[in-house]
Amino acid sequence: MRDSTRGNTVAFLCDHMLGTLAKWLRILGFDAVYPRRLSDDGLLDLAKSEDRILLTRDRDLLGRRNARTVYISSDDLDEQVGQVLRDLNLAIEDPLSRCPVCNDRVVAVRREEAQGRVPEGVFERQREFWSCPGCGRYYWQGTHWDRISEKIAEYRAMSRQTRGPSDTS
Ligand SMILES: [Zn+2]
Repeated sequence: MRDSTRGNTVAFLCDHMLGTLAKWLRILGFDAVYPRRLSDDGLLDLAKSEDRILLTRDRDLLGRRNARTVYISSDDLDEQVGQVLRDLNLAIEDPLSRCPVCNDRVVAVRREEAQGRVPEGVFERQREFWSCPGCGRYYWQGTHWDRISEKIAEYRAMSRQTRGPSDTS
């Protein structure tokens, strides 16, 4: 059982300005939803009903109706991620565990299962595949992999701890 103060039990709700931040929070392993069209009241309701921290570029939403809100001050993605990690004192404990597109948790699949579902060349080259039960996408460590792992390392350096996901003391 995870302690409730551990990073990955935090859940986020990103406002319509923060789609890229939502995607990267998912890549880092955090639960982050990003509803495209919701009124201010809709956002606040969702934050409260699902116990999510509302990340917003809109100062007017701060502190309204007792929802937990964090005002994101920068337009720059790296600064936004850094602010969330710092302000909430979060560690990156379980990167690449969620689908960047739909936020569901991905699962490792047997290689044969990916055959016919990923491009043939990819299937030939890759050994490991993951799939998302939510949207049916398949993932592998493809051409963007190096850049993504560099980014994760960079963000991990900004976060509270630098330990790896397998080191769970
Ligand atoms: Zn998905």
